[in-house]
Amino acid sequence: MAHEFSGRCLCGAVEYACASEPMFQANCHCDDCRRSGGGVYASFVFVSENMLTVNSGELHSFSHETDRGNTATKYFCPKCGSQLFTRNSANSGRRGIRVGTITDASWFQPSANVYAGRRLPSTPIDDEIKAFDEMPD
Ligand SMILES: [Zn+2]
Ligand SMILES: [Zn+2]
Repeated sequence: MAHEFSGRCLCGAVEYACASEPMFQANCHCDDCRRSGGGVYASFVFVSENMLTVNSGELHSFSHETDRGNTATKYFCPKCGSQLFTRNSANSGRRGIRVGTITDASWFQPSANVYAGRRLPSTPIDDEIKAFDEMPD
């Protein structure tokens, strides 16, 4: 897998780079990910926030309460609306990066499906990897 990677939003205003490989890779089937991204599920790689550098552009954010009472913050480009990062107050030193914004994500290999209990019936799921009904701690 790639040891470092970079990505950008749709319009190109926001460019970022990550200096390490992800600590965790997952698909999330929760309602919040569905609604905020518009897809039937969301794919993330999680990294330590100090490994992530935003090289250009501006990020706006939106915070909301999760079903567990934590605060989740989505970071997006105000010009094109692409959502790039997510942060959860339960693990505030970690950033989730939306895999679709990574320039070359051919190495992406989720090790788990989280909120698998909420996936849409038509969403295929890999039975070879772990499935959590909610977000594991
Ligand atoms: Zn943009
Ligand atoms: Zn989610």
